[in-house]
Amino acid sequence: MNAPNASGWKPEMGPAGSALPTTASGDKGLQLEEALIFELGQAGTYGVDLPEPEAAPVAGLSKFLRKAAPALPGLSEPEVVRHYTRLSRQNYAIDLGPFPLGSCTMKHNPRLNEKMARLAGFADIHPLQPKQSVAGAFEAIAELSDWLITLTGMAAVALSPKAGAHGELCGLLCIRAAIEAKGEDRPVVLVPESAHGTNPATAAFAGFRVESIPANADGRVDFDALVSRLGPDVAGVMITNPNTCGLFERDMKRISDAVHAVGGYVYCDGANFNAIVGKVRPGDLGVDAMHINLHKTFSTPHGGGGPGSGPVVLSAALAPFAPLPFVQRDDAGVAHLIEEEDAAAQGHAQSFGRMAAFHGQMGMFTRALAYILSHGNDGLRQVAEDAVLNANYILRSLEDVLDAPFAAAGPCMHEALFSDNGLAEGFTTLDVAKGLIDEGFHPMTVYFPLVVHGAMLVEPTETESKAGTDRLIASMRALAERAKAGDVTLKSAPHYTPRRRVDETLAARKPKLVWKD
Ligand SMILES: *Cc1c(COP(=O)(O)O)cnc(C)c1O
Repeated sequence: MNAPNASGWKPEMGPAGSALPTTASGDKGLQLEEALIFELGQAGTYGVDLPEPEAAPVAGLSKFLRKAAPALPGLSEPEVVRHYTRLSRQNYAIDLGPFPLGSCTMKHNPRLNEKMARLAGFADIHPLQPKQSVAGAFEAIAELSDWLITLTGMAAVALSPKAGAHGELCGLLCIRAAIEAKGEDRPVVLVPESAHGTNPATAAFAGFRVESIPANADGRVDFDALVSRLGPDVAGVMITNPNTCGLFERDMKRISDAVHAVGGYVYCDGANFNAIVGKVRPGDLGVDAMHINLHKTFSTPHGGGGPGSGPVVLSAALAPFAPLPFVQRDDAGVAHLIEEEDAAAQGHAQSFGRMAAFHGQMGMFTRALAYILSHGNDGLRQVAEDAVLNANYILRSLEDVLDAPFAAAGPCMHEALFSDNGLAEGFTTLDVAKGLIDEGFHPMTVYFPLVVHGAMLVEPTETESKAGTDRLIASMRALAERAKAGDVTLKSAPHYTPRRRVDETLAARKPKLVWKD
């Protein structure tokens, strides 16, 4: 942190080379500097009055007596409250403004979801309590399953995977189990080069060899290249639809038919389901397994590592291999939790096993179900339509200042993709992203997908208003113009944040995770 300057104001170079005063406190306006909690306060300060301990230690435990005081920060309650409140104000959130991270679907989270997830019957239950005492939770899970199956046109859904990537693993383990059940040897999974990094990683983790399939000039899977690689050694394909270039894979049904014709399976990465929910049923496109990021398409807060939930919808061919535990309705429509002891009797004898100790993320299920029920089928369709409209509005509003590699081929889906082509010599996508922080926005996704040089992937989602989207567009336009004109001040952006440009490589490679070594 900047040490408080005892002599008060001192000149510092401002963003445009102007002299700016700095403050004695290190704070700027209402943006407050914050030290580590260990650097605040002092040992011996407490937020509570603790009773003096009994003098004699419990017999036999004296060798465990602490020899030195624990290295805990010493702060009063108001100091602790201020510390975390100050830190929270240095953060950016979807509740502060647009969060246009492409592929992440950072949308507004309706507060109704939170209210429902906090109902005691959902929030305060334990996975080990008697099943008959949580029948209502199983009914809610089964109702969510019904919706996911209906929306995707698939045969079944496995709800235990904890996030998208975990769902990918679930789908590929189903495919592996199906292949083994047929006594076949199919070591190869084909993955398009525009895929999210988790796809090849998952295929490799599930024991397959990954082979890359090129994209064609309009940003979609090269159908001929894919078909020419199909054969008896191919377990299947992993295709993202809409893909990570923000484009619908128009050949999806043909691809599925071709893969099935050689005995393979089709995995669809459904992270971008937001663009087609209520409009397209992946089951109609021949998909055998697809994860749904509940935390993307069906709102629920995410970012910063969680929480997530990645249910996997399965075709009739893969449903028998789904993991346990599995929530399923009986003939009378009553939802039950199927576990190992009753798997065989309930049609799950071929299950590949468990992915997680318990049935999934109850809070996420409740939020997603609340979101689905409050939107209804017409509202969900409108989610997709508005998300796509907003993305196309951004694409068409910026294509004259930013290179949009696939814009000529037609409209995009839920995200607009730009490249660094045309920026002044030495100016990069990173400069535009850092400039966007000064403008008061979280940057878009950068340098992904890899098929586009210096990619900028902008996903507004349906929850941004036209006014909010116009502000984002105006900022991106101004930044694009500065980057094209070679404005050197952009190279050192951000200028108005608590920290300037940090060494991100060093931070990632050598993170300092302890206060003192
Ligand atoms: C987010 C995402 C994933 C991974 O999902 P997680 O929930 O983060 O594990 C996979 N593929 C694509 C295209 C994504 O956008």
